[in-house]
Amino acid sequence: MSARLIDGKAVAKTIEAEVADAISRLGFAPGLVAVRVGNDPASEVYVRSKARKARELGLNGDELILPESTSESELLAHIDRLNHDDAIDGILVQLPLPGQIDSKKVIDAIDPAKDVDGFHPINVGKLHLGRPTLAPCTPAGVIRLIESTGATIAGSNAVVIGRSDIVGKPMGALLLQRSATVTIAHSRTRDLAAVVKGADIVVAAVGKPLLVTADMIKPGAIVIDVGMNRLDASNSALVAHDDEKSRLLAKNGTVLVGDVDFSRVREVAGWITPVPGGVGPMTIAMLMRNTVTAAEWRRR
Ligand code: NAP
Repeated sequence: MSARLIDGKAVAKTIEAEVADAISRLGFAPGLVAVRVGNDPASEVYVRSKARKARELGLNGDELILPESTSESELLAHIDRLNHDDAIDGILVQLPLPGQIDSKKVIDAIDPAKDVDGFHPINVGKLHLGRPTLAPCTPAGVIRLIESTGATIAGSNAVVIGRSDIVGKPMGALLLQRSATVTIAHSRTRDLAAVVKGADIVVAAVGKPLLVTADMIKPGAIVIDVGMNRLDASNSALVAHDDEKSRLLAKNGTVLVGDVDFSRVREVAGWITPVPGGVGPMTIAMLMRNTVTAAEWRRR
C-alpha cells in the first residue's frame, strides 16, 4: 500500500484564503514587520518572502533591515518603537541573531500581543496551559496538515521526535491540547524505533536526514516530516535507493530531504508529507494567520 500524500501547498492556500477573508472582515490591513539583523543569506530569503507574502494577502508587510554590527540596545530600542506603533500588529525577529545580541532578551522584549512567532515566554506559558494564544507557526501548521487528513487526533498515540523550543515542545503541547497521548522523543531516547512504532501520528523535527525508516512505522500511520536537510554529492549513498532524489542530486548537485526516508516509509504509512512541499509552505501561511489573529485580539 502506498501512503496518501499530504499536500502542504494546497493546505497553505486554504489558510491564505482564510487570511484574505479575515482581512476583508477587519476592514483594515494589519501591519507585520519582519526584522533582520545582518546579511545571512538564508535569513534574507526568509524575511523577504514573509514580507512579500504578507503584502500579497493584503497585509502591510514590511522589512526592517539592520546592519550586522547592530548592538543589543539598538535592536531593543527598535523593538520598543515597534511595540508602541499602533499600526503594527505583528513583530518577528529572524533568528539566528549576531553573537553580540542575546536572542532571549530580544524575544522577551517583544510585546506578547504582537509576538506572531509565538516565542515569548508569556505565549509559551499560555500554550502549555491550553489557553488561547499565538502558537508557533510550524507546529500550528503541522496540526492543520494532520487535520486535513480527516483523522481524529483525540485518543491517538502521537510521537514527536525532537524537543526544540521552536518545533518539538510546542508540537507536543498542541497535540496534547487535542487529547492525543503524546510522547516527545529526543537524542537521549532509548530505542527510538520501538517508541515510534507505537505511533498513530509521527512528527519528525530533528534535522537528521532519513533518520526515520520504514521499519519504525506502524502501518497506516500519519507521518509528518518537518526536517529540512540539504545533501550534496558526498551523501549520494544515502539516497541511492530513492530514484527521484538521486535524479535531483545528479541534476542539481544538491537535494533537499527530510528526516523521514520518504520513498520507503510511504510504502507503510497511511499519510505522509513530502519534502519539499509538505510542512515548509505552512509556516509562512500560519505566520499570516497569527498576524490577523493578533490584529483581531488587539482591537477586542
Ligand atoms: P533543533 O533545535 O536542532 O532540535 C533538534 C532536536 O532533535 C533536538 O531536540 C534533539 O535532541 C533531537 N535529536 C537529535 N538527534 C536525534 C536522534 N538521533 N534521535 C532523536 N532525536 C534527536 O532543530 P529544530 O529547530 O527543531 O528543527 C528541526 C528540523 O526541522 C531541522 O531540519 C529544521 O531545518 C527543520 N525546520 C523546518 C521548518 C519548516 O518550516 N519546514 C521550521 C523549523 C525547523 P536533544 O534536545 O536531546 O539534543
